[in-house]
Amino acid sequence: MELPFAESWKIKMIEPIRKSTRAEREQWLKEACYNVFQLKAEQVYIDLITDSGTGAMSDRQWASMMIGDESYAGATSFFNMKETINRITGFKYVLPTHQGRAAENVLFSCLVKEGDYVPGNSHFDTTKGHIESRRAFAVDCTVDEARDTQLELPFKGNVDIQKLEKVLIEHNDKIPFIIMTVTNNTVGGQPVSMQNLREVRQLANRYDKPVLFDSARFAENAYFIKMREKGYANRTVKEICREMFTYADGMTMSAKKDAIVNMGGFIATNIEEWYEQAKIKGIVFEGYITYGGMNGRDMNALAVGLDENTEFENLETRIRQIEYLASRLDEFEIPYQRPAGGHAIFIDAPKVLTQVSKEEFPAQTLTVELYLEAGIRGCEIGYILADRDPLTRENRFDGNDFLRLAIPRRTYTNSHMDVIAVALKNVFDRRNSITRGMAIEWEAELMRHFTVKLKRL
Ligand SMILES: *Cc1c(COP(=O)(O)O)cnc(C)c1O
Repeated sequence: MELPFAESWKIKMIEPIRKSTRAEREQWLKEACYNVFQLKAEQVYIDLITDSGTGAMSDRQWASMMIGDESYAGATSFFNMKETINRITGFKYVLPTHQGRAAENVLFSCLVKEGDYVPGNSHFDTTKGHIESRRAFAVDCTVDEARDTQLELPFKGNVDIQKLEKVLIEHNDKIPFIIMTVTNNTVGGQPVSMQNLREVRQLANRYDKPVLFDSARFAENAYFIKMREKGYANRTVKEICREMFTYADGMTMSAKKDAIVNMGGFIATNIEEWYEQAKIKGIVFEGYITYGGMNGRDMNALAVGLDENTEFENLETRIRQIEYLASRLDEFEIPYQRPAGGHAIFIDAPKVLTQVSKEEFPAQTLTVELYLEAGIRGCEIGYILADRDPLTRENRFDGNDFLRLAIPRRTYTNSHMDVIAVALKNVFDRRNSITRGMAIEWEAELMRHFTVKLKRL
């Protein structure tokens, strides 16, 4: 008999978690104005609000922290990190930042001007925020198929080359770069194919535009290329990463994702001019160029994490856990963005809460119901997160409305996945009794989902 699949690691340290009663959760959620970002972590049993900075570091990462070099300038830890990034990405210049959005802030301060257009595949919320706050426009050119959650396609994160070319023609002199998000977080952690990255590169060359990767989950993207794209089955994940980055001029990285550290990020590029400009902004916003908001010990852990998480076994363990949760949801016929993504399951909330109108935010309503059911904290990636249109100030209802269940790396077991699946089934079973959703009582102008105050209708 063939041996079943199991994790490629064992556990050395644990952290207790605590259950609560429904009455407690009702009270806590009311105090949090029905915004799960406002809950205290100790009020949560299984925390799926994000896979960012919530992973479990390995013994090798912890060991590397003990020999972190905290020198202000020229720390050994910086050169460890830089060497690893050079080797994995092929990018020469490396500038540390304290997290991904800081990398965006530093680089976009140099590159994005008022009235610019930045085309790409479903810009992440902070990326969109850093574009729109500079009075520029983020143009989403993702393939239309990504919208249809029930369509099973291998690379739903791709950019639609024709849409992209149209933007390049229309706004040519106002485009500082094209941005490719790998994996495409917003449409469900869906990967981008090597073929698509190559075609974007060719198009960019034709219009003389640089390409930037928003690379938070580039290793997961490489895993999917290996598993799904013709010609890559026998290539190592590291070889695939190297090829991916040959199609880009630079990257911004949230190391809290695929480098499995709790805090950290960087910019890497082969364009000397980008690096020279970014250095100056980096010093102003983040710190000196060999630490940029990071501790020496964290740069060491980042280097080890990046190396480990571009190995097949580690990625296989992770992504098979997501697939396991997806298989449990299939059993209960709960609709989610198919196929399961790299870091999360995205529940198609309007397909579950069919009686809740879009104006009453189905995904936020489902997020609230799941927390009340079992103390599980998911996250709305939908109409609230989409913010208002900067020109019309109307809510943007044209994208998907998801409840995202982000799975932290190496943190929960498949028993937790079972609890999540059954809790969601219980909500699903009473879906027809949920007829009203939520209303906004207060919201910020940008990235409102973090602080929005809601009431139940
Ligand atoms: C998380 C993330 C960011 C921002 O990174 P932070 O470390 O959270 O600041 C940018 N882009 C993508 C695709 C992300 O997932």
